[in-house]
Amino acid sequence: MQIPGHIDPVTTGTVPLRGGNRVDLVGLTREGIRSALEEAGLDAKAAKLRSKQIWHWIYHRGVTEFDAMTDIAKAMRPWLTERFIVGRPTVVTAQVSTDGTRKWLLAAADGQEYEMVFIPDADRGTLCVSSQVGCTLNCRFCHTGTMRLVRNLSAGEIVGQVLLARDALGEWPKGTMASSADIDDEDDDAGHYTADGRMLTNIVMMGMGEPLYNFDEVKGALKIVMDGDGLALSKRRITLSTSGVVPMMARAGEEIGVNLAVSLHAVNKEIRDEIVPLNRKYGIEELLAACAAYPGANNARRITFEYVMLKDKNDSDADARELVRLIKQYKLPAKVNLIPFNPWPGAIYECSSPERVRAFSNIIFESGISAPIRTPRGRDIMAACGQLKSAATKPSRAELDRIAEEKQAALG
Ligand code: SF4
Repeated sequence: MQIPGHIDPVTTGTVPLRGGNRVDLVGLTREGIRSALEEAGLDAKAAKLRSKQIWHWIYHRGVTEFDAMTDIAKAMRPWLTERFIVGRPTVVTAQVSTDGTRKWLLAAADGQEYEMVFIPDADRGTLCVSSQVGCTLNCRFCHTGTMRLVRNLSAGEIVGQVLLARDALGEWPKGTMASSADIDDEDDDAGHYTADGRMLTNIVMMGMGEPLYNFDEVKGALKIVMDGDGLALSKRRITLSTSGVVPMMARAGEEIGVNLAVSLHAVNKEIRDEIVPLNRKYGIEELLAACAAYPGANNARRITFEYVMLKDKNDSDADARELVRLIKQYKLPAKVNLIPFNPWPGAIYECSSPERVRAFSNIIFESGISAPIRTPRGRDIMAACGQLKSAATKPSRAELDRIAEEKQAALG
């Protein structure tokens, strides 16, 4: 489906297979794995059984080698290895911030690079996942927005980020698989199987890219992440963040059903047109009406409005009051997340002072709407909100010109 946008989105395109001619099973639906096995020559009954087992090993146990899939007949494992792989993105760099935040620069099979970030907190661990390489939307406060959109990530590349994070955090369950009926081997690892005590508890689709411009692949990936016989993350622990792709919001609620976050960042047309240029296409009223109609939003599952605090741009008391008025006018079950601006090289904005951010937050709180101030995380490794950009990708000529012009205008 072609979705109108600031610049028309590109498709995922043909990505070379990571395993040569072998098919990567990561990102396929259960049905997709079954068909792949049938196409490779298994009869329908065997394909059904093996696909169920393989699914469990990939998504419940984090196994990447068919040889380790101990309930699959030993003789069949080399046959699978010749035809299929269980892929992972390549890690180009992995960094750890002084506050424990981790950032990975990953490479796809075709060499395209994208980032993911893990943010540990006392009571949760949140993985910030990318949906595209680059972004079309050019939000002015966002470093990713200075990259051109290279391509969409596939469902496999999106879910691959979650798998890789669990590898890196070392939290796949260990031990025997009680649910496997036909273990024909004794080489399973020892220990007790446990899925408790997860470090990775939440996922936010807030990395590089606009997820609703890559709807089908994001949906496919999140369905896998939510599947009960696998990663089994509840939809309540997953948040999809959009800059306001209004025509896709209802579908996101109906077909994916995860929590919604909206990058609002301004309360009037002039400023939002500047900060989030998509606003020129889908204005604030249209966006808030789509939020009011978002399936599943209620006081227990509120919509999060992200609001980046930019000095003398969108941070006045009047802005805070207007934000409250809009939320009330549209009767939105909402909370506001105030994000102190995270600087990056070439950025034309400054962060509001801590006093200003607090005053802004107080006005919203006093109206009965929650407005916590987000603690910046991972700034020292450029992992904070709006700072992601795959370092290897240079900005386009037009982008460099725009940055130079804006710097000049800001100076003069
Ligand atoms: S905030 Fe999101 S949608 Fe906007 S430019 Fe950055 S990555 Fe793209």
